[in-house]
Amino acid sequence: MNRTVTLAQGAGGRQTSELIDRIFKAHFANPFLTADDAAVLPPPVGKMAMTTDSFIVSPFLFPGGDIGKLAVCGTVNDLACMGAKPLYLSCAFVIEEGFSLESLERIAVSMAETAKKAGVFIVAGDTKVAGRGQADGVFITTTGVGQVQDGVRLAGNLAAPGDAILVTGDIGRHGCTILLARDDFGLEAEVTSDCAPLWQLTEAALKKTKEIHVIRDATRGGVGTVLYEIAAESGVGISLKSEAVPVLPEVDGVCRMLGLEPLYLACEGRLVVITPKENAEAILEVLHRTEEGKHAARIGEVTGEHPGRVVLETRIGAKTFLPEPGGELLPRIC
Ligand code: MG
Repeated sequence: MNRTVTLAQGAGGRQTSELIDRIFKAHFANPFLTADDAAVLPPPVGKMAMTTDSFIVSPFLFPGGDIGKLAVCGTVNDLACMGAKPLYLSCAFVIEEGFSLESLERIAVSMAETAKKAGVFIVAGDTKVAGRGQADGVFITTTGVGQVQDGVRLAGNLAAPGDAILVTGDIGRHGCTILLARDDFGLEAEVTSDCAPLWQLTEAALKKTKEIHVIRDATRGGVGTVLYEIAAESGVGISLKSEAVPVLPEVDGVCRMLGLEPLYLACEGRLVVITPKENAEAILEVLHRTEEGKHAARIGEVTGEHPGRVVLETRIGAKTFLPEPGGELLPRIC
């Protein structure tokens, strides 16, 4: 077999099935993944959540992950944000002719490992090959189905004045990692992406209390964008204590040098959790016992003032509006 992907491997014939057998079936094997036209699955009990996302990150390999890990985490985490246990994933690949088979296999291995960690089955897939220059490397679309946990009701419009705002770890690492990996600025720093599947962490929090109003993953646009979205959807104000927002010194250093706001850097393994303040400490305690949530912090509160806006309070008590999210900081970050 060639060491790079060829157009013939996307043509649907024998070479396509060889590619699928060797790269995908070999790693994704599970009882639901068959050679048939569609996966036949036991349905979720109660309410079902479904979501889809495309991943075009460049470079496809970065410290702390790769496009495959990202494609599983992104979809699994969107399900988790609705309180849904991830059950099934489908994945569609668009691969550029000439892409290395070794890299493709590495991506498949990483998807399989991440799916296993997240407890989700990859049950269906598709492979297309685009000619040279018609795609860049590899693009992956994942669709996920999950089972909404009983008694859970989460939505972006449920934040209420008095609620506490938590973040499940230090912010901005994914965006910072991609920025450094592109090497456009000649900067070096030891930063790895926070990319991680977050269902176990979410499940632990929901087991502690179902009294959580909003969970959202701070991906493209970062925590700042998510908070502005929630402020608008719920018609509330948000007050943040700047020094309570966890940022790694390396990420903070890069942001200072480039004049970036860490609140607007992407995360791929961080959730914003909004809950009545009585529950905040109990949830933090649970989060701190998980690997992905050990640096979780309470960063602010929902208020009735300045609806639709996010206010930053500095250590000395000065208050400023967090500038509203602008255009995309970095293209092709996820
Ligand atoms: Mg999301």
